[in-house]
Amino acid sequence: MRKDINARKKAEISVTEILEERNTILESIGDAFFAVDKSWTVTYWNNMAEKVLGKQKQEMLNRNLWDVFAESVGSESYKNYHKAIESDTAMHFEDYYPPLNKWYEISAYPSGSGLAVYFKDITERKVSESRLKELNENLQLQTKELATSNAELEQFAYVASHDLQEPLRMVTSFLSQIERKYSDILDDKGRQYIKFAVDGAKRMRQVILDLLEFSRVGNLDDSLEDVDLDKLVNEILALHRKQIDEKKAVILFEDLPVIHSYKTPLRQILTNLISNGLKYVSAGAAPNIQILCSETESHWQITVRDKGIGIDPAYFDKIFIIFQRLHNKDEYLGTGMGLAIAKKIVENLGGTIGVDSSEGNGSTFYFTVLKIQAA
Ligand code: ADP
Repeated sequence: MRKDINARKKAEISVTEILEERNTILESIGDAFFAVDKSWTVTYWNNMAEKVLGKQKQEMLNRNLWDVFAESVGSESYKNYHKAIESDTAMHFEDYYPPLNKWYEISAYPSGSGLAVYFKDITERKVSESRLKELNENLQLQTKELATSNAELEQFAYVASHDLQEPLRMVTSFLSQIERKYSDILDDKGRQYIKFAVDGAKRMRQVILDLLEFSRVGNLDDSLEDVDLDKLVNEILALHRKQIDEKKAVILFEDLPVIHSYKTPLRQILTNLISNGLKYVSAGAAPNIQILCSETESHWQITVRDKGIGIDPAYFDKIFIIFQRLHNKDEYLGTGMGLAIAKKIVENLGGTIGVDSSEGNGSTFYFTVLKIQAA
Protein backbone atom coordinates (compact mmCIF):
# COMPACT_ATOMS: atom_id res chain seq x y z
CA MET A 1 0.00 0.00 0.00
CA ARG A 2 2.68 2.42 1.06
CA LYS A 3 4.60 1.45 -2.07
CA ASP A 4 1.56 2.30 -4.24
CA ILE A 5 1.23 5.71 -2.69
CA ASN A 6 4.90 6.39 -3.34
CA ALA A 7 4.60 5.29 -6.94
CA ARG A 8 1.57 7.51 -7.46
CA LYS A 9 3.31 10.47 -5.82
CA LYS A 10 6.32 9.94 -8.06
CA ALA A 11 4.10 9.78 -11.13
CA GLU A 12 2.31 12.97 -10.07
CA ILE A 13 5.61 14.73 -9.55
CA SER A 14 6.83 13.76 -12.99
CA VAL A 15 3.51 14.85 -14.61
CA THR A 16 3.87 18.20 -12.80
CA GLU A 17 7.44 18.48 -14.02
CA ILE A 18 6.40 17.75 -17.58
CA LEU A 19 3.60 20.30 -17.38
CA GLU A 20 5.97 22.90 -15.91
CA GLU A 21 8.45 22.23 -18.65
CA ARG A 22 5.71 22.56 -21.28
CA ASN A 23 4.59 25.83 -19.73
CA THR A 24 8.12 27.16 -19.69
CA ILE A 25 8.36 26.36 -23.38
CA LEU A 26 4.98 27.90 -24.18
CA GLU A 27 5.87 31.05 -22.28
CA SER A 28 9.23 31.47 -23.93
CA ILE A 29 8.49 30.68 -27.59
CA GLY A 30 8.09 34.35 -28.49
CA ASP A 31 4.79 33.72 -30.30
CA ALA A 32 1.49 34.33 -28.65
CA PHE A 33 -0.20 31.04 -27.88
CA PHE A 34 -3.51 29.77 -26.56
CA ALA A 35 -5.28 26.45 -26.48
CA VAL A 36 -8.98 25.61 -26.39
CA ASP A 37 -10.77 22.34 -25.83
CA LYS A 38 -13.35 20.95 -28.20
CA SER A 39 -16.08 23.13 -26.70
CA TRP A 40 -13.96 26.29 -27.20
CA THR A 41 -13.11 26.66 -23.54
CA VAL A 42 -9.72 28.32 -23.13
CA THR A 43 -7.28 25.95 -21.42
CA TYR A 44 -4.07 27.89 -21.94
CA TRP A 45 -3.21 31.57 -22.52
CA ASN A 46 0.46 32.57 -22.52
CA ASN A 47 2.07 35.87 -21.55
CA MET A 48 2.56 36.93 -25.13
CA ALA A 49 -1.14 36.32 -25.86
CA GLU A 50 -1.88 38.70 -22.96
CA LYS A 51 0.27 41.33 -24.61
CA VAL A 52 -0.81 40.83 -28.18
CA LEU A 53 -4.55 40.56 -27.58
CA GLY A 54 -4.74 42.69 -24.43
CA LYS A 55 -6.58 40.04 -22.40
CA GLN A 56 -5.23 38.71 -19.12
CA LYS A 57 -4.87 34.98 -18.35
CA GLN A 58 -7.36 35.14 -15.52
CA GLU A 59 -10.06 36.68 -17.68
CA MET A 60 -9.51 34.02 -20.33
CA LEU A 61 -8.88 30.68 -18.64
CA ASN A 62 -11.96 28.44 -18.48
CA ARG A 63 -14.00 30.95 -20.52
CA ASN A 64 -15.57 30.22 -23.87
CA LEU A 65 -13.41 31.85 -26.54
CA TRP A 66 -16.41 33.13 -28.51
CA ASP A 67 -18.04 34.62 -25.45
CA VAL A 68 -14.98 36.80 -24.91
CA PHE A 69 -14.42 37.51 -28.60
CA ALA A 70 -18.07 37.73 -29.59
CA GLU A 71 -17.29 40.25 -32.35
CA SER A 72 -14.99 37.70 -34.00
CA VAL A 73 -17.73 35.15 -34.59
CA GLY A 74 -17.83 34.65 -38.36
CA SER A 75 -14.36 36.21 -38.85
CA GLU A 76 -11.55 34.69 -40.88
CA SER A 77 -10.09 33.24 -37.66
CA TYR A 78 -13.46 31.80 -36.63
CA LYS A 79 -13.85 30.07 -39.98
CA ASN A 80 -10.28 28.74 -40.05
CA TYR A 81 -10.36 27.43 -36.46
CA HIS A 82 -13.52 25.50 -37.26
CA LYS A 83 -12.06 24.24 -40.49
CA ALA A 84 -8.88 23.08 -38.68
CA ILE A 85 -10.94 21.03 -36.24
CA GLU A 86 -13.40 19.72 -38.81
CA SER A 87 -10.77 18.66 -41.34
CA ASP A 88 -8.14 17.79 -38.72
CA THR A 89 -5.51 19.79 -40.60
CA ALA A 90 -3.31 22.69 -39.56
CA MET A 91 -4.41 26.09 -40.91
CA HIS A 92 -2.05 29.01 -41.58
CA PHE A 93 -3.56 32.40 -42.37
CA GLU A 94 -3.56 36.12 -41.69
CA ASP A 95 -6.42 38.00 -40.10
CA TYR A 96 -7.29 41.57 -39.21
CA TYR A 97 -8.76 42.28 -35.76
CA PRO A 98 -10.72 45.57 -35.99
CA PRO A 99 -11.10 46.35 -32.24
CA LEU A 100 -7.31 46.58 -31.90
CA ASN A 101 -6.68 47.66 -35.49
CA LYS A 102 -4.08 44.91 -35.80
CA TRP A 103 -3.06 42.20 -38.20
CA TYR A 104 -2.03 38.73 -37.06
CA GLU A 105 -0.29 35.79 -38.65
CA ILE A 106 -1.95 32.72 -37.23
CA SER A 107 -1.30 28.97 -37.23
CA ALA A 108 -3.97 26.72 -35.79
CA TYR A 109 -3.15 23.06 -35.02
CA PRO A 110 -5.93 20.62 -34.18
CA SER A 111 -5.15 18.05 -31.45
CA GLY A 112 -6.99 15.28 -29.67
CA SER A 113 -8.12 17.69 -26.98
CA GLY A 114 -9.04 20.69 -29.12
CA LEU A 115 -7.02 23.38 -30.87
CA ALA A 116 -3.61 24.96 -30.27
CA VAL A 117 -3.19 28.43 -31.77
CA TYR A 118 0.08 30.26 -32.34
CA PHE A 119 -0.03 33.84 -33.58
CA LYS A 120 1.99 37.00 -33.86
CA ASP A 121 1.33 40.67 -34.48
CA ILE A 122 2.31 41.51 -38.07
CA THR A 123 0.65 44.94 -38.20
CA GLU A 124 3.93 46.74 -38.86
CA ARG A 125 4.77 44.46 -41.79
CA LYS A 126 1.25 44.78 -43.16
CA VAL A 127 1.34 48.56 -42.92
CA SER A 128 4.68 48.74 -44.73
CA GLU A 129 3.45 46.25 -47.31
CA SER A 130 0.35 48.27 -48.04
CA ARG A 131 2.36 51.50 -48.00
CA LEU A 132 4.77 49.94 -50.47
CA LYS A 133 1.89 48.77 -52.62
CA GLU A 134 0.36 52.23 -52.54
CA LEU A 135 3.72 53.82 -53.42
CA ASN A 136 4.17 51.35 -56.22
CA GLU A 137 0.74 52.08 -57.62
CA ASN A 138 1.38 55.81 -57.39
CA LEU A 139 4.70 55.36 -59.13
CA GLN A 140 3.11 53.35 -61.92
CA LEU A 141 0.44 56.01 -62.31
CA GLN A 142 3.03 58.78 -62.41
CA THR A 143 5.17 56.86 -64.88
CA LYS A 144 2.13 56.43 -67.10
CA GLU A 145 1.23 60.11 -66.84
CA LEU A 146 4.83 61.06 -67.54
CA ALA A 147 4.96 58.82 -70.59
CA THR A 148 1.72 60.36 -71.86
CA SER A 149 2.82 63.94 -71.30
CA ASN A 150 6.20 63.10 -72.82
CA ALA A 151 4.52 61.66 -75.89
CA GLU A 152 2.26 64.72 -76.11
CA LEU A 153 5.21 67.03 -75.79
CA GLU A 154 7.10 65.18 -78.51
CA GLN A 155 4.05 65.32 -80.71
CA PHE A 156 3.72 69.03 -80.02
CA ALA A 157 7.39 69.66 -80.77
CA TYR A 158 7.09 67.67 -83.95
CA VAL A 159 3.95 69.41 -85.20
CA ALA A 160 5.17 72.87 -84.18
CA SER A 161 8.56 72.50 -85.77
CA HIS A 162 7.11 70.87 -88.85
CA ASP A 163 4.49 73.60 -89.33
CA LEU A 164 7.00 76.38 -88.68
CA GLN A 165 9.10 75.28 -91.62
CA GLU A 166 6.67 76.46 -94.26
CA PRO A 167 6.22 80.12 -93.12
CA LEU A 168 9.96 80.29 -92.50
CA ARG A 169 10.64 79.16 -96.06
CA MET A 170 8.40 82.03 -97.23
CA VAL A 171 10.26 84.58 -95.13
CA THR A 172 13.62 83.35 -96.41
CA SER A 173 12.58 83.24 -100.03
CA PHE A 174 11.00 86.72 -100.04
CA LEU A 175 14.01 88.14 -98.25
CA SER A 176 16.26 86.80 -100.98
CA GLN A 177 13.87 88.19 -103.63
CA ILE A 178 14.19 91.66 -102.05
CA GLU A 179 17.95 91.24 -101.88
CA ARG A 180 18.10 90.28 -105.58
CA LYS A 181 15.56 92.67 -107.09
CA TYR A 182 15.96 95.75 -104.97
CA SER A 183 19.63 95.74 -104.07
CA ASP A 184 20.15 98.78 -106.40
CA ILE A 185 17.67 100.94 -104.52
CA LEU A 186 18.71 99.76 -101.04
CA ASP A 187 21.41 101.65 -99.19
CA ASP A 188 24.10 99.88 -97.12
CA LYS A 189 21.96 99.94 -94.01
CA GLY A 190 19.05 98.34 -95.86
CA ARG A 191 21.30 95.62 -97.23
CA GLN A 192 22.72 95.02 -93.77
CA TYR A 193 19.25 94.69 -92.24
CA ILE A 194 18.35 92.12 -94.85
CA LYS A 195 21.54 90.23 -94.10
CA PHE A 196 20.66 90.16 -90.36
CA ALA A 197 17.15 88.95 -91.21
CA VAL A 198 18.52 86.17 -93.47
CA ASP A 199 20.97 85.17 -90.73
CA GLY A 200 18.18 85.01 -88.16
CA ALA A 201 16.02 82.94 -90.51
CA LYS A 202 18.95 80.55 -91.08
CA ARG A 203 19.45 80.09 -87.35
CA MET A 204 15.74 79.60 -86.87
CA ARG A 205 15.79 76.92 -89.55
CA GLN A 206 18.56 75.11 -87.67
CA VAL A 207 16.62 75.34 -84.39
CA ILE A 208 13.54 73.91 -86.08
CA LEU A 209 15.53 71.08 -87.67
CA ASP A 210 17.15 70.24 -84.31
CA LEU A 211 13.81 70.31 -82.55
CA LEU A 212 12.39 68.00 -85.20
CA GLU A 213 15.34 65.67 -84.78
CA PHE A 214 14.90 65.72 -80.99
CA SER A 215 11.21 64.95 -81.19
CA ARG A 216 11.86 62.07 -83.57
CA VAL A 217 14.42 60.27 -81.39
CA GLY A 218 13.19 56.77 -80.72
CA ASN A 219 10.65 56.86 -83.53
CA LEU A 220 12.98 55.80 -86.29
CA ASP A 221 12.27 52.56 -88.07
CA ASP A 222 15.88 51.56 -87.76
CA SER A 223 16.87 47.93 -87.59
CA LEU A 224 19.62 46.21 -85.63
CA GLU A 225 22.74 45.57 -87.63
CA ASP A 226 26.48 45.07 -87.30
CA VAL A 227 27.86 48.59 -87.17
CA ASP A 228 31.54 48.96 -88.01
CA LEU A 229 32.50 51.91 -85.81
CA ASP A 230 35.74 52.55 -87.75
CA LYS A 231 33.73 52.90 -90.93
CA LEU A 232 31.06 54.99 -89.27
CA VAL A 233 33.60 57.46 -87.86
CA ASN A 234 35.24 57.72 -91.30
CA GLU A 235 31.86 58.53 -92.87
CA ILE A 236 31.26 61.27 -90.29
CA LEU A 237 34.74 62.71 -90.82
CA ALA A 238 34.17 62.76 -94.59
CA LEU A 239 31.18 65.03 -94.02
CA HIS A 240 33.35 67.36 -91.91
CA ARG A 241 36.31 67.21 -94.32
CA LYS A 242 36.27 70.91 -95.21
CA GLN A 243 36.27 72.02 -91.56
CA ILE A 244 38.93 69.43 -90.61
CA ASP A 245 41.24 70.63 -93.39
CA GLU A 246 40.68 74.31 -92.69
CA LYS A 247 41.33 73.95 -88.98
CA LYS A 248 44.12 71.39 -89.46
CA ALA A 249 42.33 69.12 -87.01
CA VAL A 250 43.98 65.93 -85.81
CA ILE A 251 41.60 63.03 -85.31
CA LEU A 252 42.85 59.78 -83.84
CA PHE A 253 41.11 56.44 -83.64
CA GLU A 254 42.05 52.89 -84.41
CA ASP A 255 40.61 49.42 -84.26
CA LEU A 256 37.17 50.46 -83.16
CA PRO A 257 34.98 47.36 -82.89
CA VAL A 258 31.99 46.23 -84.89
CA ILE A 259 28.99 46.45 -82.60
CA HIS A 260 25.49 45.05 -82.98
CA SER A 261 23.30 48.12 -82.62
CA TYR A 262 21.33 50.81 -84.46
CA LYS A 263 23.44 52.71 -86.98
CA THR A 264 21.48 55.95 -87.46
CA PRO A 265 21.24 56.83 -83.76
CA LEU A 266 24.92 55.97 -83.26
CA ARG A 267 25.80 58.21 -86.19
CA GLN A 268 23.79 61.07 -84.65
CA ILE A 269 25.52 60.79 -81.25
CA LEU A 270 29.01 60.53 -82.71
CA THR A 271 28.36 63.34 -85.19
CA ASN A 272 27.25 65.66 -82.38
CA LEU A 273 30.22 64.82 -80.16
CA ILE A 274 32.79 65.02 -82.95
CA SER A 275 31.45 68.29 -84.32
CA ASN A 276 31.55 69.78 -80.81
CA GLY A 277 35.16 68.62 -80.51
CA LEU A 278 35.93 70.41 -83.78
CA LYS A 279 34.04 73.53 -82.75
CA TYR A 280 34.96 74.19 -79.12
CA VAL A 281 38.63 75.15 -79.46
CA SER A 282 40.25 78.53 -78.81
CA ALA A 283 40.40 80.82 -81.82
CA GLY A 284 43.04 79.60 -84.24
CA ALA A 285 43.85 76.42 -82.31
CA ALA A 286 43.87 73.09 -84.15
CA PRO A 287 41.26 70.67 -82.81
CA ASN A 288 42.59 67.38 -81.49
CA ILE A 289 40.10 64.56 -81.05
CA GLN A 290 40.56 60.98 -79.99
CA ILE A 291 37.86 58.32 -80.27
CA LEU A 292 38.14 55.18 -78.17
CA CYS A 293 35.99 52.20 -77.35
CA SER A 294 36.13 49.87 -74.37
CA GLU A 295 33.74 47.29 -73.06
CA THR A 296 32.17 45.97 -69.88
CA GLU A 297 30.24 42.73 -69.60
CA SER A 298 26.99 44.36 -70.71
CA HIS A 299 27.93 47.58 -72.50
CA TRP A 300 30.23 49.18 -75.02
CA GLN A 301 31.69 52.48 -73.81
CA ILE A 302 32.58 54.96 -76.52
CA THR A 303 34.73 57.93 -75.60
CA VAL A 304 35.26 61.14 -77.57
CA ARG A 305 38.10 63.11 -76.04
CA ASP A 306 39.24 66.56 -77.17
CA LYS A 307 41.93 69.03 -76.19
CA GLY A 308 39.66 72.05 -76.60
CA ILE A 309 38.48 74.81 -74.28
CA GLY A 310 36.99 72.44 -71.69
CA ILE A 311 33.93 72.88 -69.48
CA ASP A 312 33.53 74.07 -65.91
CA PRO A 313 32.19 71.04 -63.91
CA ALA A 314 29.42 73.29 -62.55
CA TYR A 315 27.78 73.06 -65.99
CA PHE A 316 28.04 69.29 -66.56
CA ASP A 317 24.28 68.80 -66.12
CA LYS A 318 23.20 71.98 -67.86
CA ILE A 319 24.85 71.21 -71.18
CA PHE A 320 22.66 68.11 -71.71
CA ILE A 321 19.42 70.14 -71.43
CA ILE A 322 17.73 71.33 -74.61
CA PHE A 323 18.67 74.82 -75.81
CA GLN A 324 21.22 75.24 -72.98
CA ARG A 325 24.50 76.72 -74.15
CA LEU A 326 27.53 78.04 -72.36
CA HIS A 327 28.49 80.37 -75.21
CA ASN A 328 26.67 82.91 -77.31
CA LYS A 329 26.39 82.59 -81.07
CA ASP A 330 29.07 85.18 -81.74
CA GLU A 331 31.67 83.04 -79.97
CA TYR A 332 30.54 79.64 -81.21
CA LEU A 333 27.56 78.95 -83.47
CA GLY A 334 25.00 76.43 -82.26
CA THR A 335 21.49 75.82 -81.01
CA GLY A 336 22.21 74.01 -77.72
CA MET A 337 20.45 70.88 -78.94
CA GLY A 338 23.34 68.56 -79.90
CA LEU A 339 24.03 67.07 -76.46
CA ALA A 340 20.33 66.94 -75.53
CA ILE A 341 19.70 64.90 -78.68
CA ALA A 342 22.71 62.68 -77.93
CA LYS A 343 21.49 62.11 -74.34
CA LYS A 344 17.99 61.22 -75.46
CA ILE A 345 19.29 58.73 -78.02
CA VAL A 346 21.77 57.14 -75.62
CA GLU A 347 19.12 56.67 -72.94
CA ASN A 348 16.78 55.26 -75.53
CA LEU A 349 19.40 52.64 -76.30
CA GLY A 350 19.70 51.69 -72.62
CA GLY A 351 22.93 53.56 -71.96
CA THR A 352 24.21 56.62 -70.15
CA ILE A 353 26.16 59.66 -71.27
CA GLY A 354 28.53 61.81 -69.26
CA VAL A 355 31.42 64.21 -69.43
CA ASP A 356 34.65 64.74 -67.63
CA SER A 357 36.38 68.07 -68.07
CA SER A 358 37.70 71.25 -66.57
CA GLU A 359 38.13 74.65 -68.13
CA GLY A 360 41.14 74.86 -70.40
CA ASN A 361 41.93 71.16 -70.23
CA GLY A 362 39.83 69.60 -72.94
CA SER A 363 36.73 67.47 -72.49
CA THR A 364 36.06 63.75 -72.42
CA PHE A 365 32.55 62.75 -73.41
CA TYR A 366 31.64 59.11 -72.97
CA PHE A 367 28.50 57.13 -73.58
CA THR A 368 27.51 53.52 -73.22
CA VAL A 369 25.48 51.31 -75.50
CA LEU A 370 23.94 47.97 -74.53
CA LYS A 371 25.82 45.09 -76.16
CA ILE A 372 22.62 43.17 -76.63
CA GLN A 373 19.89 45.49 -77.79
CA ALA A 374 16.25 44.59 -77.52
CA ALA A 375 14.96 44.33 -81.09
P1 ADP B 1 25.63 73.55 -79.26
O1 ADP B 1 26.97 73.05 -79.60
O2 ADP B 1 24.74 73.69 -80.41
O3 ADP B 1 25.66 74.79 -78.43
P2 ADP B 1 25.39 71.22 -77.56
O4 ADP B 1 24.16 70.70 -76.89
O5 ADP B 1 26.11 70.31 -78.45
O6 ADP B 1 24.89 72.49 -78.33
O7 ADP B 1 26.36 71.74 -76.45
C1 ADP B 1 25.88 72.50 -75.35
C2 ADP B 1 26.98 73.36 -74.78
O8 ADP B 1 27.96 72.54 -74.16
C3 ADP B 1 27.73 74.14 -75.83
O9 ADP B 1 27.10 75.37 -76.08
C4 ADP B 1 29.10 74.31 -75.22
O10 ADP B 1 29.09 75.42 -74.37
C5 ADP B 1 29.27 73.07 -74.36
N1 ADP B 1 30.09 72.04 -75.04
C6 ADP B 1 29.64 70.98 -75.74
N2 ADP B 1 30.64 70.23 -76.17
C7 ADP B 1 31.78 70.82 -75.78
C8 ADP B 1 33.19 70.53 -75.91
N3 ADP B 1 33.61 69.44 -76.57
N4 ADP B 1 34.06 71.38 -75.33
C9 ADP B 1 33.63 72.45 -74.64
N5 ADP B 1 32.34 72.79 -74.48
C10 ADP B 1 31.42 71.99 -75.03
